[in-house]
Amino acid sequence: MTEIWSPEDRTEYLEQQPAEPYRLGTEQVLTVLRVDKGAGLSRREARSRLERCGKNELRAEEPVPAWRKFLAQFTDVLVVLLLAAAFVSAGLWLYERDAALPYEAIAIFAIVLLNAVMGYCQQARAEQAIAALRQMSAAQARVVRDGAHQTVPAAELVPGDIILLEEGDTVPADARLIQSTALQTAEAALTGESLPVRKDTATVTGEVELGDRHNMIYSGTAVTYGRGLAAVTATGMRTEMGRIAGMLRAAQDETTPLQAELTRVGKLLGLVVVAIAVVMIATILFVEDIQGVSALFDVLILGVALAVAAVPEGLPAIVTAALSLGVQRMAQKKAIVRHLAAVETLGSAEVIATDKTGTLTKNEMTVRAVATASGHVTVSGIGYAPVGQLTRDDGGDLDELLRSEVECALFAAEQANNAALQEQDGRWIVQGDPTEGALIVAARKAGLEAAALGNRFVRIAEIPFSSERKLMSTVHSDAEHQEHVFIATKGAPDVLLARCSHEFVGRHPRALTEERRNEILATNEELAGKALRTLAVASRSLPKDNFGSSAPDDAVEQDLVFLGLIGMIDPPREEAREAVARARAAGIRPIMITGDHPRTASAIAVELGIMADTRAVTGAQLEGMSDEALDHAVRDVSVYARVNPEHKLRIVQALQRNGLTVAMTGDGVNDAPALKAADIGVAMGMTGTDVSKEAADMVLADDNFATIVAAVEEGRGIFSNIRKFLRYLLSSNIGEVMTMFFGVVLIEALGLSGASGDKVVLPLLATQILWINFVTDGAPALALGVDPVDPAVMRRPPRPREEGVLTPRTWAGIIFVGVVTAVGTLFVLDASLPGGLVEGSGTLRYAQTMAFTTLVLFQLFNVFNARSDEGSAFEGLDRNAWLWGAIALALLLQIAVIYIPFLQKAFSTVSLSVCDWLFCTAVASSVLLLRELSKVVTRAMDRRH
Ligand code: ATP
Repeated sequence: MTEIWSPEDRTEYLEQQPAEPYRLGTEQVLTVLRVDKGAGLSRREARSRLERCGKNELRAEEPVPAWRKFLAQFTDVLVVLLLAAAFVSAGLWLYERDAALPYEAIAIFAIVLLNAVMGYCQQARAEQAIAALRQMSAAQARVVRDGAHQTVPAAELVPGDIILLEEGDTVPADARLIQSTALQTAEAALTGESLPVRKDTATVTGEVELGDRHNMIYSGTAVTYGRGLAAVTATGMRTEMGRIAGMLRAAQDETTPLQAELTRVGKLLGLVVVAIAVVMIATILFVEDIQGVSALFDVLILGVALAVAAVPEGLPAIVTAALSLGVQRMAQKKAIVRHLAAVETLGSAEVIATDKTGTLTKNEMTVRAVATASGHVTVSGIGYAPVGQLTRDDGGDLDELLRSEVECALFAAEQANNAALQEQDGRWIVQGDPTEGALIVAARKAGLEAAALGNRFVRIAEIPFSSERKLMSTVHSDAEHQEHVFIATKGAPDVLLARCSHEFVGRHPRALTEERRNEILATNEELAGKALRTLAVASRSLPKDNFGSSAPDDAVEQDLVFLGLIGMIDPPREEAREAVARARAAGIRPIMITGDHPRTASAIAVELGIMADTRAVTGAQLEGMSDEALDHAVRDVSVYARVNPEHKLRIVQALQRNGLTVAMTGDGVNDAPALKAADIGVAMGMTGTDVSKEAADMVLADDNFATIVAAVEEGRGIFSNIRKFLRYLLSSNIGEVMTMFFGVVLIEALGLSGASGDKVVLPLLATQILWINFVTDGAPALALGVDPVDPAVMRRPPRPREEGVLTPRTWAGIIFVGVVTAVGTLFVLDASLPGGLVEGSGTLRYAQTMAFTTLVLFQLFNVFNARSDEGSAFEGLDRNAWLWGAIALALLLQIAVIYIPFLQKAFSTVSLSVCDWLFCTAVASSVLLLRELSKVVTRAMDRRH
């Protein structure tokens, strides 16, 4: 055997890709890696190896530097045009020298720069939020370090770490197995092998392909069955995955349907606006007598400015920011969203199909009842503290016969068990599966001490539990009967009973009659009817010779001796009942899909208000149903019990065929297909497997059903906020475009032409339009994006998936506001000038300042309108302090631009009097009042339908 690393030369073995660890024996691997199997590495050693070997990560592509991202803000065609215009304007100034400074050029440059800074900040914020999200769902690994089991970020694994793996884990690094219990992994990603591969610890002789190295497990593959312990041999880019993957491509930014829709709307709007700008320029050239390059230039620059102002080019960035900020809020509520698109879909969820154990219930199991051949026993005590009494159901003490049966049953339950009961700071806690933990607690209450019994029986093999099998067994050598092995099995009573041929009565097995089988099943139903989760236990003794393999299959789980039934409570979560009610009020139907007994499931479902009757459909019934029958059944069945993961997939598909948007929870490896198929796959953060988390769109950090409902509320809130600022931005922009367009078309009627000397007359100047865009599209739009979630969102039915973000009603509102804005602004313009429809007496510059201010005020009043299509603008005004702050800021900026001399020059404004301000405000407020009136009409019409 070749020695692959020189033990003397640490640096070498740590920094080189270890060759062929599969050809070394387990002890040899541990020696070479300088690690003790029981204690693992010390924390210090792990840290020093981490420094040498680097993180256990695939190298990512170089990120785009900040300066390039900033420059990218200037790549938009319109911005380039605007910059070109500013240059020409500066050039003209050099030529004409008509002012002390090139004010117009400076103003345009400043605004373009400010817009770029704003765009960059928004984008950076969105990227940060997305990076934080990725961080939250970073992989974890369970390792042995300093002799204790602990969970560390997978990125911190180093060669030599001892890792623990079980069903559903993603293998975090390449490793050599040193212990395996029926371990199987799916290696398709690496070797193309589509079926799970069985893994063991035996040394491989000779050089073999990756797929035949059955004592190695590889980073990025998934454990599909069993458990194991392994020593890490390669991390990061030195893993097999690192070698084939090469550089990890920077994660692609995903586009959500909403972002795609907005990009489409943006483009369409851009085209319309450019067309309008062209018509407008043509009209000016046609109507007015343009003389000189400078006048011509003014007109062209106005066209470009209008296009820049009206095209909501920042929209995708604002939407991403709103989505990712919402996602951060969701994370605070313990719902971790893995894809931005899920936020949108969440708001449309119509069905939440949820597990029971741990999601609707607390997953804090306590054994309450044990039923054996000679009687029923009640167990007292709460929680995991092993303090409680066993009494007969009728109140008396346990007689000899019953006690011996109960002890046998609890003993077997304690043997077929992977959990551990520990006392920490006076509190009893369970490491592992709570169902198994509860069995250990009950055994202690019955006076069974692990140490006393454990010496006689030593576990030699295990046939692991899976949701499909609903059984698990352990095989033990028996010191008192060395020629025999002892098999302890526990599992779902209906499944286990079918594998039993005898029953334990007193101290002896007796053949199970049909009558007794029925009695046992009836007892099971009775316990389940009291909302108890039931399990059965059985055992068997087998001659050692008949049991040859250390990796047995389920053939040994036959001819078992039934020992008893065990019933445990798993109280519903307090918040689950309210969450179910909230979901219903929001038009969402909660349904329960569980592996548990139908009676247990129904009892809990009724208690939580998921269903009124006790009609549950079982997995076996599902199997007998055609797809058509199932499509029909899913419309009113709310509880599915004793189901396998593949049934979940059928249920999701049937619901979807009914046109419903489905959120579905799952935790096991085999739940992955159903999670992927669901519109929103929801995985459990605490008890869920890596495989299920990877398949999911959202992970619940607290495994709680109420968290899903809270996330739906957030999802709806985010969507409603996005609608708010869309309404605002679009109606404001359309208002600007209409003002300019009609201002030019109606030049004569407004008295504008009369006001001109030899210069071209424009309703508003290019710089003013850009300013309006900057002042109103910035802070007020952002403030709308963070409007607190309106509680009413959970009183409405879910938004249909196909309904776009901009409905016909929203468009109607947008155009209405646009028209009012244009009419009002042009009225002020006309009234400030001599001639036209309304007589005035001001100069052109004064009239433009008045119109400019009115347009800004229109947009500030319009912020309130934009909060709803139907609801009054005056509702919940005190909820968003940001909004008031943003309005105050915009007002201050407007005051600055009118009164500060330098800005007056840059934006061609004049000081206004208090009366002027009052007049502008009065006209601008009309948009609020008129829109309120139109909403009253809308509401009245809605009521009539
Ligand atoms: P849910 O799908 O709501 O999480 P569940 O946890 O009850 O429900 P499973 O874990 O698939 O679903 O369990 C199905 C049945 O298998 C249980 O009702 C129980 O009888 C049995 N069972 C559960 N855990 C074990 C275990 N560790 N060993 C043996 N049998 C078990």
